[in-house]
Amino acid sequence: MEQVQQLSERRDDVAAAVSALAGIDAVLWQGGSEQLGPLFRQLDDLGRAVEAARVAVLAEAIERGETTKTMARAHTGWILEWAPSLRAGGAGQLLAVTRAATQQRHAQLREALLSGRVPVRAAAVCVEEMDRIRHRLTPEAVPSVWQALLSLAAEDGPRAVRRLRPALLARYGQAGELDRDQERAKVLVALSQPMHGGDGLFDYTLRLDVEAKTVLEAALGPLSAPRPADGVPDLRPAAQRRGQALIELVRRAVSCPGSLPTAAKATLLVTIGWQDLLAELGAGTTIASSDAGTLLGPAAIRRLACDAGIIPAVLGTDGQVLDLGRESRWFTPAQAKALWLRDRACTIPGCSMPAQWCDAHHLWHFADGGPTDLAHAALLCGYHHTWVHRHRLAGRVHDGNVTWDLTPGSYDSYLSELTRHRPDPPNEPGSGSGPGDHFDPGDDNGSGSGPGSGPDPADDPRSEPGDHFDPGSADPPQRP
Ligand SMILES: [Zn+2]
Ligand SMILES: [Zn+2]
Repeated sequence: MEQVQQLSERRDDVAAAVSALAGIDAVLWQGGSEQLGPLFRQLDDLGRAVEAARVAVLAEAIERGETTKTMARAHTGWILEWAPSLRAGGAGQLLAVTRAATQQRHAQLREALLSGRVPVRAAAVCVEEMDRIRHRLTPEAVPSVWQALLSLAAEDGPRAVRRLRPALLARYGQAGELDRDQERAKVLVALSQPMHGGDGLFDYTLRLDVEAKTVLEAALGPLSAPRPADGVPDLRPAAQRRGQALIELVRRAVSCPGSLPTAAKATLLVTIGWQDLLAELGAGTTIASSDAGTLLGPAAIRRLACDAGIIPAVLGTDGQVLDLGRESRWFTPAQAKALWLRDRACTIPGCSMPAQWCDAHHLWHFADGGPTDLAHAALLCGYHHTWVHRHRLAGRVHDGNVTWDLTPGSYDSYLSELTRHRPDPPNEPGSGSGPGDHFDPGDDNGSGSGPGSGPDPADDPRSEPGDHFDPGSADPPQRP
């Protein structure tokens, strides 16, 4: 049987290791270059072992009450007395991680620390992150989340751990957690006043939530691409191209305030599972842009789908693309024009944001099978668009007027009123009789061509909502 080494022998070995390293720089010349890498590796192993053992010893001291016996600053005083190098920082982190590791429910953390797999600094971020999201996870998901955090910490370090939060909330969070997270961030959006940066330059600080960042990046993407001219390369640095693209965006937006947009809109693809979208679970992922891989909550996708140029690619259960939501899903230029003429401005009472700054909102959400017709459309400014989706407000069109029920949740009763007339619950789009034909991610108010196209006979703004209760039978919008 293997003899377990006694503590006193181990302490002698530790002392031997310390003296082995003292003054090592003076003898490095003796070894060939091929020894340097392996030596470095040995030191790495030793460093991990030291961290792990430090946690073990501290845990033992805490458990025996050693750390609180005499010190004024309980625990920390003891740590600093015996580990003077931690006076430069790190004692608090070590203490927090060690105390977390001694808790019964943190067995995975303890194992990761004591095996030296995860260093203290990275483990501290895991503990912090877990404290932050634990109450938002389903209880049975906690072990999986520990595992994900710790293995990421071991492989990629603390920063990767922080970036994992949206994915963890989407996958393991209680329903709506990712959406709530993203919703909360919205109120923190800010653009600073210009600050003199010297030399006639100005600095701004812009803070955006994930949805706003996604929209901005989708718009900047094509505008900030390098533009070589006839073999002459575009040598502008990326930051300069992005800055100039932003100004180009603003200039373009303010230079044609009275007309329908004529330029092709920036396009962003977001994938999301159909069931997730319906149930408002999980998350969508942006693809095919410089911003690929950003996770967006289902509520954000429902709202983004009402915005120009955002295309949710809805995936079926096997991951096949069910609907790319382009073309017939968007309001035609003629419909958009009719909507501008009908609503004139944002339709929320008291808001006067003019039509050209508004989105066309589906009063019957695309995700719930709503058709793209004027009887189910209303202009909303960006702010009220978010607001309407957030509070799930119902709007109705009567005699060419949009009226809003501002009671939070009114959309849900409106929706059940609509679906009561519908024989089947919504199926996956593309599966036959479901809402696939009218699955409508883009109540986009402009889709490429400019003003001047004739009125669209397929759409009568005054038709009653009842005309379109069955999304499977309504005609798709015609393109001029
Ligand atoms: Zn909308
Ligand atoms: Zn408004």
